[in-house]
Amino acid sequence: MPLSVEEIRINYLRVQEEIQRTALKCGRKPEEIRVVVVSKSQPLEVIEAAIKAGIRSFGENYPEEAVDKINAFRQIESIEWHMIGHLQSRKAKLVADYFNWMHSLDSLRIAEKMEGLLAERNKHLKVLLEFNVGGEVSKFGWPASDQNHWAELIPEIEQIQRYPHLQICGLMTMPPLTATLQEAQGYFRKLRKLRDFLQERLPSLNLHELSMGTSADYPAAIIEGATMVRIGQAILGPRDYSKG
Ligand SMILES: *Cc1c(COP(=O)(O)O)cnc(C)c1O
Repeated sequence: MPLSVEEIRINYLRVQEEIQRTALKCGRKPEEIRVVVVSKSQPLEVIEAAIKAGIRSFGENYPEEAVDKINAFRQIESIEWHMIGHLQSRKAKLVADYFNWMHSLDSLRIAEKMEGLLAERNKHLKVLLEFNVGGEVSKFGWPASDQNHWAELIPEIEQIQRYPHLQICGLMTMPPLTATLQEAQGYFRKLRKLRDFLQERLPSLNLHELSMGTSADYPAAIIEGATMVRIGQAILGPRDYSKG
């Protein structure tokens, strides 16, 4: 059963309270942490309920699935759509046309493609650079588990910085699904260190945003400096995978 407006409202408040508690405990301002509600694999009725519960920021992994949802709620003002999944180049147009944010920019090739599409449309896109700090071979993101190789990331980032339609706002990571909570927290800490490393060497960039933490581990991510947490199931309930 999809969750009701009331159930979603309660879950959302509970998450907000946990964010507030965690932030205050570690000396951070709760208002500098925003929640992207991950609606992938959720039907339209759940998103409609979430909108009624006051949610305006949604994260999606699959552009085609997202476009149907974006079109369905087009008339509602101030909804933000965040692309958080790996982007295949043939779907890039959909992101250029429909999304406000892209958390999952993970290659120079995709950056170049996006720049071309955005330039044609005279649009700008806020992007986060995705890094794989967990060292798992099958994952997306620039490999960044070995700190000794961080400097090698700089030339590609400088290239992306030259693309006028991409606005680099920070970094994103997704720990390996097998990571324990403690390991995940270590990866979040590493992403923040990587951010500090890159920020120091690329002072003309503003790498303020750290997108990290899901339902399973967002308090740990906040302790390590997350400014955006991507939370699905803890707010919207279990996903319906039967629709693929
Ligand atoms: C699905 C997903 C999330 C949210 O996971 P939940 O367990 O539903 O909170 C966050 N980030 C990414 C990249 C995802 O694919």
